[in-house]
Amino acid sequence: MAGLYIHIPFCRRRCNYCDFYFVTNSALIDQFLAALSHELTSRAYLLTNELIETIYFGGGTPSMLSAAQFDFILTLASKTFRVSPTAELTLEANPEDVTATYLADLARVGINRISLGVQSFNDAKLKLLTREHNGAQSRKTVELAKHRFNNVSVDLIFGTDGETLDDWTTELQTAVALQPEHLSTYSLTVEPRTLLDKLIRRGKRQPPMESLQAEMFLVAMEFLRHNAYEHYEVSSFGKPNFHSRHNSAYWNRTPYLGVGPSAHSFVKTTDGEIRFANTPSLKDYLAAPTDSIQFKERLSEEDIFNESVLLGLRQAKGIDVDDLRKKFNFAVSLSQLTALVEQGLLTKESSWVRLTDKGFTLADEIAAELLAASHFTFA
Ligand code: SF4
Repeated sequence: MAGLYIHIPFCRRRCNYCDFYFVTNSALIDQFLAALSHELTSRAYLLTNELIETIYFGGGTPSMLSAAQFDFILTLASKTFRVSPTAELTLEANPEDVTATYLADLARVGINRISLGVQSFNDAKLKLLTREHNGAQSRKTVELAKHRFNNVSVDLIFGTDGETLDDWTTELQTAVALQPEHLSTYSLTVEPRTLLDKLIRRGKRQPPMESLQAEMFLVAMEFLRHNAYEHYEVSSFGKPNFHSRHNSAYWNRTPYLGVGPSAHSFVKTTDGEIRFANTPSLKDYLAAPTDSIQFKERLSEEDIFNESVLLGLRQAKGIDVDDLRKKFNFAVSLSQLTALVEQGLLTKESSWVRLTDKGFTLADEIAAELLAASHFTFA
């Protein structure tokens, strides 16, 4: 079982909080598709004998491409790999690109899951985020997608300056009323060197309030669970049977090949488990699609252990300490987790350790704590 991630590195312009890699020159799309074809076929050997269960078009703004261009990529993928007839085929789309005709064309070429970059239903908040669409388009796009697809995901951002708990609750109510099968919620983070970062430094925007964002996250967990969404990963909520298969595979350390500039890959070879990433440069990629590697590393046993803890803890199912003991040559002591349990950040049930809701608001810090030598030590 394996996945394919296809990075579409084009956007019309940069949203002020975004630090993803993309270019705005859409005249390069055809050249990009030629380079992508080369990379896909050249790297197919990395997934020999694997059945492709998921294909994910992420970006950038994949919805800047036409359905015919996705048809071209999907046809090539099915000629090059063994793609499961029940594969999950996800496309990220921005509301300003979504029309009934476009969605129908995407469904016709095989896309069966749409992930909508809605971010908000509130005009003022969308303006603060410098998104191109407005609240009415957010609502309309979810309705159109629900009409065409039975697997629709909505991304929402919380914690912009001036946003209150009531505002956020209204966002959640609006989203749930539209009944997407899946929701991903992210707190607004200020990435270095973004326009938002500069505006905050100049005092023109307020930095997000972390304590309020934590409260908003707690509200989201409770509200969405109450509305029959399963909170299965830090940021991810899905109706039963509608968890993202592609993202779940990442968190369960299933191999995947990422193609396109800046895409990351994780493959299991006879030489061990390897992670590598393409350079975030379309120019380099067009010149030599398989030569522009930003990094490549073979994972040590300690790396694999650390990843298993970090990625396991991101998920509601948590980590099975007995299983870790069997797989790794590490001394793992449950008693050392007691402090985190007493602080209400972790729960412990037989050998399973899971984050509580409060723990999810501090997931990164707790993972770092758990990986500290005092909790998990080499045998
Ligand atoms: S559309 Fe998405 S990838 Fe493009 S700039 Fe905005 S946030 Fe970044």
